[in-house]
This record gives sequence, C-alpha cells and structure tokens, in this order.
Amino acid sequence: MPAPDGNTLHALLRNYIDYLKEEGVTGVPRGTLAAKTSRKKASRAAQPASSKAAQTAPKTAERSSRDAAPRPDRPTFRPEPPAPAYEPMPAAKTASTPTLEPSPAFTPGPAPRAANTPDDTLETIAAEVRACRACVLCQRRLNAVPGEGNANHPDLMFVGEGPGANEDAQGRPFVGRSGELLDKMIMAMGYSREQVFIGNIVKCRPPGNRTPTLQEMAFCMPYLLRQIALIQPRIIVCLGATAMTGLLGPVGRITQVRGNWYRFNHIPTMVTFHPAALLRDPSKKRDTWHDLQLVMAALKNPTPSGGTGPG
Ligand code: SF4
Repeated sequence: MPAPDGNTLHALLRNYIDYLKEEGVTGVPRGTLAAKTSRKKASRAAQPASSKAAQTAPKTAERSSRDAAPRPDRPTFRPEPPAPAYEPMPAAKTASTPTLEPSPAFTPGPAPRAANTPDDTLETIAAEVRACRACVLCQRRLNAVPGEGNANHPDLMFVGEGPGANEDAQGRPFVGRSGELLDKMIMAMGYSREQVFIGNIVKCRPPGNRTPTLQEMAFCMPYLLRQIALIQPRIIVCLGATAMTGLLGPVGRITQVRGNWYRFNHIPTMVTFHPAALLRDPSKKRDTWHDLQLVMAALKNPTPSGGTGPG
C-alpha cells in the first residue's frame, strides 16, 4: 500500500481528534514530572559553555582553597555499589490470563447489486445495506446507516462521507454535532430535514472515524447510485472532500472545487464543506453559505430547458 500523503494524514488526524471528542475526551495531560525534569536537563545542557565556565570558575577557586585546609571531620566519600542488574518479573502463568487471539481472516459477502430492479424501493435498498458484508467496515459497525428523508424527487439531496459514532449508534445519518449544524443549514435554506434526503458515501462507520479508503468507497457506492436513481433529486450537495471524490472523481482540492457546479448523472451537483469542517473552522461558514445560496438561486430559477442549476 502506498504511503499516505500529507492531506490524508491530516484528514486521519482530524478524524481521530473528532473521534476522541465524540468519545468524551476533553483534554490531554500537560506533561509528567519526568518530562519536566528532562526539559530542565535539556535547557541546562543548552547553556553556552562560556556561561557555564563563568558560573563554575569562582566556585572552583573557592573549592581549591577550602580543600587546601585540613578537614579532619569530613567523612570519606564512598561510592554506592552498583545497582543489581534489572531482571523483569516472570509473567504470571494462570489459566485466567486473557490472551489476544488474532481475529479470523475477514470473508467478504457478495458485492452490492449495481443497478435497481423494477421492484426496488429505498426500503429494499436499506434492508440490503443492513445485511451487507461486502467490505471490512461491516466488522465493527453497530448499525449500518442507509440514509433517510424525502424519497419523492426532493429538491435537495445531501451526501456526506460516512457514519460517525452517533450515527453508528442510532443507525441514522447526521445526528451528532455535525448533524445539528446540517439541520440548521437546511433550515436556513428554507427546508426541513424531512423535505430533503440525506445519505453517505459509505454506509458503515470507518474505525475511529477515519476517512474511508477508495476501495471501501467503491464497494459501497452502488447503494448510493441506486438511491440517487430512485430518488432523482433536483440538486445534489456534496458535503466534503470524500463525497466530492465519491461522486465526481478526483476533480481537485475541495477549497478549489467548492462553489462550482458539476453534474452527476445529469443532476446538478454543488460541492461545499462538510459540517464537521465548519465545526473545526467556523471561518469556513461564510464560503459554505455562499455555496448554499447558489443552490437556492438555482432551485428558484430553473434553466430554460426546464432543468435546475447550470444550463
Ligand atoms: S460500508 Fe457499504 S459495502 Fe461496506 S459493509 Fe457497509 S454497506 Fe457494505
């Protein structure tokens, strides 16, 4: 596997920090006594030699004059005997000692169906998602998250990256802090959560909220494609880089791509930041609102050909 680039590492670190926050971690220890001690030693070692010499020179002179005088009462210095070599304690051998067995090799289930059948509904797709074992993400999920909302040709479909801890626990998309912010964004656009459809690129939570791999995305995409084909939203809004890559491919960095119109299977598609990115960096809210205003304008002003968004 190729080494991850800086952006991927950054995204992984951000996801890990989000994960820690979702798990309730509010801070980290500031440092141990040992760390402080080693810092003091390091700073002492970093002092310039001339400064050390200046400090020690008078003391040396004073010491040599003291040593010259007889000191009969002074105890003779005897070095401590060397400490015995460290021998680790033997491991306790009891029948109850837990052992970490390697998990058995993952055997994937059948890949998702690529196209809808005439009798497919969102419910039948959701049932397939909940039973899916096509990729490794099924192993640690509590609940798969198929997506939810208005399935009847809604004005808007929002597509995110994948479930987080809250979504995994509830089996519903965008129900944590990011979800609260998305609800506000939807309301600011004049809609309710029930009037739009909300889905994700992958339907099972990646461990530690890491970014799903391209392989995991590829395994799961057929479900989203079938949902989009059934729902036929007027506009799709990609929330974040993973949704952008999943639907549009490697079109560029999200900071360059956001605010521009694309088409996914003839459906106008806008790219903007993920709500989690707005929670980390509220200064991105302004750009996001600009992008959503473009979406609102496109919904109000259908193109002459009867479509929505760019002509
Ligand atoms: S992430 Fe998608 S493909 Fe992977 S197991 Fe879950 S539903 Fe199936």
